[in-house]
Amino acid sequence: MQPQPPRCRIPHRRAAAFAAVTLLTFAVSSAGTAHFTAGDTAARAGAVALTPALVPCLISGSSAVQMAEGIPTRGHYARSTGTVHALTLMIDFSDAPGEGTAMDRFHEFFPQTQEWFRTASYGRLTYRPETPIRDWLRMPKPFKDYGIERGAPFDPGYRRLVQDIVAAADPKVDFRQYDLLNVLMTPNAGPPALETVLSVTFAGNTAAPVADGVPIANASFVYSRQDDGSGSYPHTGYRVLPHENGHVFGLPDLYTQEGGGAVGHWDIMSEDWGANNDLLGWHKWKLGWLDADQVHCASGRGVKEYTLTPLGRPGGPKLVFVPLDGRTGYALELRTRDGNDEEVCCPGILIYKVDAGVDTGQGPIKVFDAHRDTGGCTNSPNVHAELSDAPFAPGETFKDPEAGIRIDVTAADLEGNYRVRVTRQ
Ligand SMILES: [Zn+2]
Repeated sequence: MQPQPPRCRIPHRRAAAFAAVTLLTFAVSSAGTAHFTAGDTAARAGAVALTPALVPCLISGSSAVQMAEGIPTRGHYARSTGTVHALTLMIDFSDAPGEGTAMDRFHEFFPQTQEWFRTASYGRLTYRPETPIRDWLRMPKPFKDYGIERGAPFDPGYRRLVQDIVAAADPKVDFRQYDLLNVLMTPNAGPPALETVLSVTFAGNTAAPVADGVPIANASFVYSRQDDGSGSYPHTGYRVLPHENGHVFGLPDLYTQEGGGAVGHWDIMSEDWGANNDLLGWHKWKLGWLDADQVHCASGRGVKEYTLTPLGRPGGPKLVFVPLDGRTGYALELRTRDGNDEEVCCPGILIYKVDAGVDTGQGPIKVFDAHRDTGGCTNSPNVHAELSDAPFAPGETFKDPEAGIRIDVTAADLEGNYRVRVTRQ
């Protein structure tokens, strides 16, 4: 007997109040230029759990893709498992002096960022933010002299800034001890985030200035507060930092020029304003946070059934990947209101296409909406509403007739686990 699909509450959208902010959500931040040699294998990225059965699910794109969804991650990114030491410096300028203490600024992001990573990684990433300098570090030039604007490349402005940061911090900092650099700017440097978001990461950048013999290859810069005025800032305003650090670990941007419509609120690399959200299961595998037996590769023909446990809870199978060719495939995971996923209003099996041949910000991942043109099930500001009810419920089916693939969500059990059936012709 087919169980009845759970009914998702579909409220009317609150139309006006947050419309402007929602648009801004889509332009949150940009991945910096990743300068790495094509074909370089990441020795430091999280080691991906593998068995021979998973090999057909290792997709990759061309070496021209700067920051790709392929597994394993290639490039000189920071490692994403074990203890990660994050050098965190608070920076100000003569034309933008720090307001309040530097440690107040630090505490806008910590301990929340550590906790976010602990929860998202099921304890695989122990994030240590370290502040060998607990005061504002004053730069030698005014902020305006660095010529920093949204989308500014590393050269020349950021190179000069990093050189000045290194020179100012070097007497007290041994840069060899850290895996990544967080630069928390005084929020009055540059325009308010509601106008323009400057926050940016330069990842895998081995051509960056050298300090204590190591290049500052993975650095995240966070500017004005992403405060939408909804009152959620003290609770969730830190989320720009896990997004930016996602780049440091090799994850691409999932929002595009058109906004967050490709992935919505299902990954922090897509939307990092407003309510908390998790990473996609694909990203958790890519970062080394899933064991080999938590991932299933549906590469063979015929019919196969799988159980999935909620992605936001530790333990159990989390991801089914259906490879299409060496570059693309469909991913399946169970999203519920657990862990970092505080805004899930329509739980179920999220289905999305991963394309390792598409670059950061160009739409490397697309979520399929099981309930199109409904307006979604959330009223939460800064959550892409249309995709909020994207998951497939028991009794619902996804089909790609061209590829001969059919995915049926067959059942949900009393513990909240789901069964899916993958049919490949
Ligand atoms: Zn980004």
